[in-house]
Amino acid sequence: MTTKVLSYTLNSLVSKLIESGFVWTLPVILSKSTDPLWPDPGASIEKRIEAEIYGHQVRMTTSMIIHKMVFCSLLHPKLFIVSPNVRIEKRERQKTGWHAYEFTQLDFEIQNGDFETVKKMVEKLLQDLIHDVRRDLYDDTKNNGLLKHIELPKKGFPIFDAQELQRSHGQYWEDEIIRSIKTPVWVRNIPREFYDFEDTETGKWDNYDLFVPKYGEILSGAKREWEYEKIIRKMKRDGVNVDLYKELLYLAKEGKLAPSAGAGIGIERLVTWLCDAKNIERVQPFPKIPGVVLDL
Ligand code: AMP
Ligand code: MG
Repeated sequence: MTTKVLSYTLNSLVSKLIESGFVWTLPVILSKSTDPLWPDPGASIEKRIEAEIYGHQVRMTTSMIIHKMVFCSLLHPKLFIVSPNVRIEKRERQKTGWHAYEFTQLDFEIQNGDFETVKKMVEKLLQDLIHDVRRDLYDDTKNNGLLKHIELPKKGFPIFDAQELQRSHGQYWEDEIIRSIKTPVWVRNIPREFYDFEDTETGKWDNYDLFVPKYGEILSGAKREWEYEKIIRKMKRDGVNVDLYKELLYLAKEGKLAPSAGAGIGIERLVTWLCDAKNIERVQPFPKIPGVVLDL
């Protein structure tokens, strides 16, 4: 059943995005500029997969954030990619049941977008998907019918501030949120990578995650930085190797990066939640469990 839901989910999301004017482009697998995944409180990478090709050092895609920013600025203002990501998660993450070392993001970006644009769009995509799965798919192994466990708010999904959650629940606020919420919720203002927009006056981050009950985060996104001085300052502050981001920095310096906002939805996580599955490996035909390499 999980495979059927996965196929249905991809078809639904992709069709709705195309209908609303998004261009579907193909993923990048090897490049010099992939996501540093640093600093991010949620990241836990054991190893980065690198290779030397044609005398150049490249990395396997950890996310297409850098390519998305460039594509959205120069080629098409609304785009998405069904993008494979390789992140060699620390093996202790095996026990979360929520991390795989290969997974797929539905990664989208909107020129001049903001949180409101993304919130409205994602909530509608999920509402329609859940409505259509309930209408079209039937699973006789579940007497209750599919998706009975899912509750959506009548109006917009609630919004929390990560710094406030941290103050009231301490460093493990995510566990508390996952246990206490009944519907999906947005969490905003999370300090992380240089490309998420940071308001230097208020100290607030214009970014957002979507959390679902019982499981956790299924989407991360942000408004992006586009100004050269700010990007380089943040990279240096965070100890990010500027040599890996030459083209992005060049475009920013030339004033060619456009303001944008977007997000990546973890497809396997979304399907795990939809199917109320025990863990993420139940929705991967060839599971990529941290620490485990299959013979196939
Ligand atoms: P990020 O921007 O790094 O948060 O990644 C975007 C989305 O990809 C997350 O919200 C998750 O849904 C998904 N994701 C990230 N890491 C993993 C992982 N190790 N296994 C499965 N899904 C993941
Ligand atoms: Mg995240």
